[in-house]
Amino acid sequence: MEPALESALERDAADPLRPLRARFGIPRTKQGDPCVYLCGHSLGLMPLAARAEIAQELDDWERLAVLGHEHARRPWIPYHDALAPQVAALLGCRADEVAVMNSLTVNLHLMLASFYRPQGARRAILIEAGAFPSDRYALATHLQWHGLDPRECLIELAPRAHEDLIAEESIERLLAQRGEEVALVLWPGVQYLTGEAFDLPRIARAAHRAGALVGFDLAHSVGNLPEPLRDLEADFAVWCSYKYLNAGPGAIAGCFVHRSHFEPSRHRLAGWWGHERASRFQMPHEFQPAPGAAGFHLSNQSILSTAPLFASLALFREAGSGRLREKSVALTSFMEELLAERTPEIRSVTPRAAGARGAQLSLRLSGGPERGRRVHQWLTGHGVLCDWREPDIIRAAPAPLYNGFEDVFNFVARREEALRSTDG
Ligand SMILES: *Cc1c(COP(=O)(O)O)cnc(C)c1O
Repeated sequence: MEPALESALERDAADPLRPLRARFGIPRTKQGDPCVYLCGHSLGLMPLAARAEIAQELDDWERLAVLGHEHARRPWIPYHDALAPQVAALLGCRADEVAVMNSLTVNLHLMLASFYRPQGARRAILIEAGAFPSDRYALATHLQWHGLDPRECLIELAPRAHEDLIAEESIERLLAQRGEEVALVLWPGVQYLTGEAFDLPRIARAAHRAGALVGFDLAHSVGNLPEPLRDLEADFAVWCSYKYLNAGPGAIAGCFVHRSHFEPSRHRLAGWWGHERASRFQMPHEFQPAPGAAGFHLSNQSILSTAPLFASLALFREAGSGRLREKSVALTSFMEELLAERTPEIRSVTPRAAGARGAQLSLRLSGGPERGRRVHQWLTGHGVLCDWREPDIIRAAPAPLYNGFEDVFNFVARREEALRSTDG
């Protein structure tokens, strides 16, 4: 057996989190072999217990119908109460700062309605050039909603020439120079394309020094980095739950509102589920927000798209964030080392320091996008699921809840094979 494979198998055997893998559904190839699944950054695998969580809600709906609001095993009206503390623990914030609701882009729009308040000369929004398209669309259309021109008011900070990554210093410098124009900074916790994890407390301090508010998109941080909101003075944050959180396609998302913004007079787009609980069903005429982030809810909880999150959060608790992160760092470094050794023509654009990345490596192959696309297609056809992002990046993320060192070995070995087969 190859020494690298032997070492991978040994590390899997010694891994205390290894048994958790059996608690997930793993896609199989046509031949029936488990795929090498490295797409947890895009859609996490299904926790097998999700089926029972959904089945319980279907049973209660069948059995109780409208009475389920109060008498379901997990009553639907206060459904959120059990969830918020668990999600808050994962994020490292207070439970009353969390609202688990809607989808990411919807939550971003809601947060922009509350926290993007252009005034006088202070009306620009700062984001990264190359932001996730949905975020950019949301920001540009908010500017237009306020009668502003995105070409003028959307500041998009790009990496320095010929670089892929943005240094926190560049953000600080820009805010020191143009801070008086900036009303809001929106920044990702982990950049979706490059896998760069930013020093968020540092960005928040720079934004606040400039007099701007700051929000974070944690789509690629939640379930990937431990407690991304700890020690962070964010004004708001948003995330989705179907990537590293494994809550299923289109699962319920979430948002964070800092406790300093709990005042009832805070601007918001309101719905009845954000109304104070005690008087909600008296159907009052005037909106009275519930205290905390709960006051930003719109609609009654989407039970079927929320239930699987309970199954996933239980696995995170079982694993423990310290052990999970330790394994994540080891898996990703193993992938980086093996790639450097065996396929030097593949370059990772993700930062090398463990503190500046999560699970994902973003890999660029020499020889141009055509070659990269061919390699990716070959891999997909051979049971290796990673993803291709235009123009020229393959993203691969070993997720420590269910991936092992053997997956990483297989990924690298198959890539070697893919290069040989597709260049022929
Ligand atoms: C995944 C992701 C989204 C997805 O938005 P949805 O509203 O969940 O479809 C948005 N922004 C970022 C940065 C993402 O990574």
